[in-house]
Amino acid sequence: MTKQGVPPTPKNYTIWFRYVSGENGALNERIDQLIKEKTPFTDNLNEQLFEEFLSECNIDRLEQVRHNIQDALKETASTLTGTGSDAAHYGETLERFDASCNTAQSISDVYGLLSEVLEETRKMKHSFKQVTEDFNTKSLEMDQLREELEQVRKQASRDSLTGLTNRATFFDLLNEKVAEEGTQDPFCLMMLDIDHFKRVNDTFGHLVGDKVIRFVAETLKLSVKGQDTAARFGGEEFVLLLPDTGLEGGVTLCNKIRERIANTKLVRTGTRESLGQITLSAGVAQYRRGEEQMDLIQRADDALYKSKKNGRNRVTPAS
Ligand code: GH3
Ligand code: MG
Ligand code: MG
Repeated sequence: MTKQGVPPTPKNYTIWFRYVSGENGALNERIDQLIKEKTPFTDNLNEQLFEEFLSECNIDRLEQVRHNIQDALKETASTLTGTGSDAAHYGETLERFDASCNTAQSISDVYGLLSEVLEETRKMKHSFKQVTEDFNTKSLEMDQLREELEQVRKQASRDSLTGLTNRATFFDLLNEKVAEEGTQDPFCLMMLDIDHFKRVNDTFGHLVGDKVIRFVAETLKLSVKGQDTAARFGGEEFVLLLPDTGLEGGVTLCNKIRERIANTKLVRTGTRESLGQITLSAGVAQYRRGEEQMDLIQRADDALYKSKKNGRNRVTPAS
């Protein structure tokens, strides 16, 4: 970790402990590749590695929230049961009073019974007050838990650098889309990759590289609507999932995005030094009924490769 300049935080220790133990082949492959490419382990990259390979921690948090909700529900149920037995007891006292009133021999008998009823009524009032307070507290607790759960859910589905849908959630959505195939109109998948991105990193450093990735992500967010999904597929690669869109519509939208990015002049904060033209290449594939999702991705990726081969800054429809 010292050799790679990785700060000794608990999260980083977890990643590198797993790396040294060799128990996660994919993690080791990724770290070896990063070391080979001499990619600096920036805070963002460390965070990304943690999220990608150790995201079960999110599951742990989810479990914690689930337990808290169960506890809160159990407590609420026991409060209700308690009130139920108090109320039943109160009911019995009233019935007894009613019956005894009919048979009471003297005023003092009635007076005695009435004192008992008053005492029970006071207890009942207290019990209800307690229940109301308990319910108020519980409802606040539940609101907090719901917010926390929502946060965990959002965090778990987002990419930390860009806020776009992350890779795992993208695959879930694609799975759903492919599963409902047949009843739905055709949909389009496009893969986009920033051109010569290594040059940006090499010339301006990784932090500027990260900002360029964020800029492209923002442009994607602004360019899609409603049911569309924009996701970060990996490093400087993105995917768009467009329901109810044919190949032609997909290519048109993709070209708009490509032009938007190519026409934006990016400069460094402070010095205003130009970053040069940022462009991206893309491949667009329309889903074919019965097609496996990996085949669809492969076709979009092949089309993207053609865009790169034919000079970059272009969009190619998949065959
Ligand atoms: P091409 O036009 O062929 O796509 O060229 P390229 O330079 O973009 O090539 P390639 O896709 O192989 O390189 C991607 C680079 O992106 C390599 C990697 O160091 C860098 N990268 C990956 N993830 C991140 C990140 O989160 N932040 C930064 N700054 N760089 C990243
Ligand atoms: Mg790439
Ligand atoms: Mg690239």
